[in-house]
Amino acid sequence: MIQDLLHRSLRNVTSRGLPPPDQMSIASPLPQDVNVSFEFFPPALGSGAGHFWASVERLIPLAPKFVSITYGAGGTSQDRTLDAAASLLRSKLTDVAMHLTCAGASKSHVDDTALRFADAGGKHILALRGDPPKGSQGPYQPHSEGYAYAADLVAGLKKLGDFDITVATYPEGHPESNSIEDEIDTLKRKIDAGASQAITQFFFDTDAFMRFLERARKAGIAIPIVPGILPVTDFKRTRSFAIKCGTSVPKWMDDLFEGLEDDETSRRLVATSVASEQCRSLYAQGIETFHFYTLNQADLCFAICHMLGVRPDNNPTKVS
Ligand SMILES: Cc1cc2nc3c(=O)[nH]c(=O)nc-3n(C[C@H](O)[C@H](O)[C@H](O)COP(=O)(O)OP(=O)(O)OC[C@H]3O[C@@H](n4cnc5c(N)ncnc54)[C@H](O)[C@@H]3O)c2cc1C
Repeated sequence: MIQDLLHRSLRNVTSRGLPPPDQMSIASPLPQDVNVSFEFFPPALGSGAGHFWASVERLIPLAPKFVSITYGAGGTSQDRTLDAAASLLRSKLTDVAMHLTCAGASKSHVDDTALRFADAGGKHILALRGDPPKGSQGPYQPHSEGYAYAADLVAGLKKLGDFDITVATYPEGHPESNSIEDEIDTLKRKIDAGASQAITQFFFDTDAFMRFLERARKAGIAIPIVPGILPVTDFKRTRSFAIKCGTSVPKWMDDLFEGLEDDETSRRLVATSVASEQCRSLYAQGIETFHFYTLNQADLCFAICHMLGVRPDNNPTKVS
């Protein structure tokens, strides 16, 4: 089984007839078989909500496999996540995955949210532990009446309804993991509990992702592991966030963004180029599906998808 999978991914690489990743150039043929999904923050309060809907409407014509909406572990935006997911489901323009965290919440609160999502027609949940609320001291502590970790949440959701469950994984290790073996064991627990797909934390070291994928396959993990791609526009902020997430930031990125601190336009052009190169390099190594952390910046993701051969269809997109 595992050998079969390795064999297949190797065959994918050679059968594309693409040059090796280090020789990929803009002249390489455009992929024709790329699948994408997009992650959005829930609508901001008041007039800020328009930005969310405009971002979604710009990207839905690219026929994503699904769009996902993040969930504030702290609680502030949870109703907005649910409301936006319900509106999108009503529009029937795209499949919707709602993120759902269990940190700091009782099982009954989490279950109730999942059931409200199901009542709105939702089936796909991105099940996460979440982080301790801002300002809390010491290491993560499960809620006394809550699901302790994402694997417990997945098991609970599976008992609750017929959900498709995606989970998170970390190619360079979650900051609380002791090792990559530990990381793979955590992912296995979530799969044993019922997860059928994983999306990775964002990364810039493409080799680290490929090594992680190979180790996961060797460990018998067969579910799709979809790379999470973050187009970086605010490099300074991304760097400090990456440190907290356990994502390494290669020196070449410092060099690329150096001197652009006050030049947002150039940073956005660089961001588009870096993310599309990253995807094209992954594609050349057999990866066909990408999940974009859009940060509700639709134009960047639209341009990156264009570079990947993902083009709009002509379906109507008005959802709000
Ligand atoms: C694709 C993606 C989407 C995300 N979306 C959101 C979002 O919408 N909202 C949000 O708040 N956060 C989100 N996050 C962040 C996520 O909540 C944090 O990274 C969180 O710290 C870990 O969540 P998890 O589901 O990976 O946790 P888990 O899978 O539970 O694991 C986290 C760590 O806990 C430890 N652990 C796991 N199981 C056990 C056990 N049984 N015993 C002891 N230790 C254990 C391990 O060290 C593991 O690395 C997202 C992350 C990703 C990659």
